[in-house]
Amino acid sequence: PTITVKTATASYPVVVEQNCLQQQKKTIEGLLANYSHVLVITDQHVSILYKEVCDWLQNSSNSVLPFVTPNGESAKTFAIYEAAMTHMISHNLDRKSVIVALGGGAVGDLAGFVAASYMRGIDFIQLPTTVLAHDSAVGGKTAINHPLAKNIVGAFHQPQAVYYDTSLLASLPERQMRSGFAELIKHGLIADATLLAEVMANYQNCASLYARDMTPFLTKGIQIKADIVAEDEREQGIRAYLNFGHTFGHAVEAAGDFKHWFHGEAIMIGMKFALLLSQQLTGLQFDVTRWQHWAEKLGYDFSLPPTLTFEQLYDKMMHDKKNNLSSDSFCFVERGRSTDFTSCDENTVSRSI
Ligand code: NAD
Ligand code: ZN
Repeated sequence: PTITVKTATASYPVVVEQNCLQQQKKTIEGLLANYSHVLVITDQHVSILYKEVCDWLQNSSNSVLPFVTPNGESAKTFAIYEAAMTHMISHNLDRKSVIVALGGGAVGDLAGFVAASYMRGIDFIQLPTTVLAHDSAVGGKTAINHPLAKNIVGAFHQPQAVYYDTSLLASLPERQMRSGFAELIKHGLIADATLLAEVMANYQNCASLYARDMTPFLTKGIQIKADIVAEDEREQGIRAYLNFGHTFGHAVEAAGDFKHWFHGEAIMIGMKFALLLSQQLTGLQFDVTRWQHWAEKLGYDFSLPPTLTFEQLYDKMMHDKKNNLSSDSFCFVERGRSTDFTSCDENTVSRSI
């Protein structure tokens, strides 16, 4: 299927299909032929795993040498950003050049920000390769990290197109798979009870995450994100719903010296917390225990280290709010619909934990 994302500044297709890189080969080649230079940005791991994709993108006369980043979050540093710029200047990339981001959310965020800022903005295309990237590749948020705060230096810059080949997800390690799947669960929770029910019915253990094609569910997740972004591109209002579970989740994630959590693993804990709070504060009718048991069957772990205190998490939550302007509110679910609250007071939070 193809979803069209329409914002005030852009309109672009998101193609979601098994093998779509093969099926849409001619279309993609045609698109790339419009540019003076094509630069692929990918990470080390993906460049080896999907060498044939890199080689194919590399094949035409307007392609320059790919820029290969370190894996994961280490792609989103000032040093790598500068190295990417050096690479582009040395290869004479001009305003008519295009960047192709091949990889997960980290590569997409870096490549998007490079595209947003090189010569004040050039085009880019997303070829996401992780489950999480069904979220990150759509919506035009791009960023790198500062040592003091994640995603603090960035820009809104929408891609020209997104080609999401879901057959590439087969090679994801289990924890990556689950981490991204948490964002799909989030999309169901905030906007589509049917999607949530379908996902809960279709996925009952970790093996099913690989065995059962995720394309139809990821498509719905992307549609939800596309609808929200269409209404609120710059996160002035309802786009904040996408932060559901993230206030507490980021606090858990930031307690990384207790245990290393992947983003989605921490967000699952954050969403449980937000659901419990929603029950208390908005009267949400939702069986959190059943939901948790289901998630545990998939391998999610909701336990927090006993040495991690409430005060520590609370401090991190407040710190997150200060540093992350996009989550200055706490997001709840109310009778299947998200409701934004602009404050959360300490007593309510501590009672629920
Ligand atoms: P990632 O890009 O770090 O990828 C995770 C790991 O999986 C990497 O080591 C990568 O090499 C590997 N990998 C990628 N594709 C693979 C494949 N098909 N098979 C096997 N291994 C593969 O992580 P991610 O979870 O995709 O994204 C996380 C990033 O996304 C964070 O930096 C987060 O801030 C960002 N994010 C951005 C947005 C947004 O709206 N821009 C939204 C959510 C998250
Ligand atoms: Zn997230």
